[in-house]
Amino acid sequence: MTATKAYAAQQAHAPLAPWQFDRREVGPHDVQFDILFCGVCHSDLHQVRDEWGGAIFPMVPGHEIVGRVTKVGAHVKKFKVGDLAGTGCIVDSCRTCDNCKQGLEQFCLTGGSFTYNSTEQDKKTPTYGGYSSSIVVHEDFTLKISDKLNLAAVAPLLCAGITTYSPIRHWKMGKGHRIGVMGLGGLGHMAVKFAVSFGAEVTMLSSSAAKEADAKKLGAHKFVLTSDAQQIKQVTGYFDFIIDTVSAPHDYNLTLSLLRTNGVQVCVGVPPTPTQIYGFSLIGGRKSLAGSLIGGLPETQEMLDYCAEHNIVSDIEIINIRDINTAYERMLKGDVRYRFVIDMATL
Ligand code: NAP
Ligand code: ZN
Ligand code: ZN
Repeated sequence: MTATKAYAAQQAHAPLAPWQFDRREVGPHDVQFDILFCGVCHSDLHQVRDEWGGAIFPMVPGHEIVGRVTKVGAHVKKFKVGDLAGTGCIVDSCRTCDNCKQGLEQFCLTGGSFTYNSTEQDKKTPTYGGYSSSIVVHEDFTLKISDKLNLAAVAPLLCAGITTYSPIRHWKMGKGHRIGVMGLGGLGHMAVKFAVSFGAEVTMLSSSAAKEADAKKLGAHKFVLTSDAQQIKQVTGYFDFIIDTVSAPHDYNLTLSLLRTNGVQVCVGVPPTPTQIYGFSLIGGRKSLAGSLIGGLPETQEMLDYCAEHNIVSDIEIINIRDINTAYERMLKGDVRYRFVIDMATL
């Protein structure tokens, strides 16, 4: 066992504070790496506050993890000591169900092991995330990280990146499509970068007028302030796809009204409360309301390689781990430009 320093919440709504726990011994197929940077996802906040229910405490959040390998098991082929490595939201799965066999481990039919607030495949041992000094992960769930990019800015690709890349690939969004990205935060800014990179016309749909200049800098062609009825009218019936990243409750009927015939709203944001949808919002124009959860291991590696090739990283603000609770408060106010990343040397 390896004694591991961390920041944890001991119960829902408790502030994160220093804690220590043991990581397992490195098994024959495991990779151990020192965590250098960990991104701060809005899901961390939802979960430490138990907004989705069923939270497991103590909780060490963090699933945008990058670092350097310190030890590998005897059978490990992909990694050697000194390599860069990364881990996203999944650390294991059954590997035998239909979804796992297709590389869709996030939809493991018997339940995947998520990086934290979850259990290992024994369904008993709690998993602890990346707000910690090191991690031990099976090599199949460890990602190769390019040394060409700024490592701190790569960390958010492990969740914000794959969560927006995956629906763009699945629905084959790109040239000739009008894509609306709703919510300019961690996921939203990556959605804009990817959608632009795949050749779509991209409109930022934001509740924050102050983010217009940034949206354009990120590559968005248009900006619509969602609280302005006049601006909303101009994009009614306009989009082929809307990638909805909003973390708080909002009116899906309004979003659906912005789609053209056969348009698809892909929800990646997970507001803590259910929402009401009128059948009429869907039937006129044969619209679809869909969802997408992170991405499987092969697609996550594909996304990381794509980012290395196209020089795509996250726009980040590096924080000291002591400031994590303040960072959560700022995230709630939409005051992130556009992802906090913890410098784990401050742990
Ligand atoms: P974030 O950085 O906090 O961004 C969320 C954005 O939503 C904000 O920047 C804001 O954008 C908008 N927003 C927030 N409150 C709002 C409100 N009351 N009304 C309208 N807009 C509001 O969060 P994130 O890390 O990108 O995560 C976004 C959501 O995706 C969270 O629910 C998270 O749990 C979820 N998530 C899902 C997956 C998945 O696999 N599906 C993966 C990761 C995260 P504007 O200021 O531009 O309006
Ligand atoms: Zn996340
Ligand atoms: Zn499975």
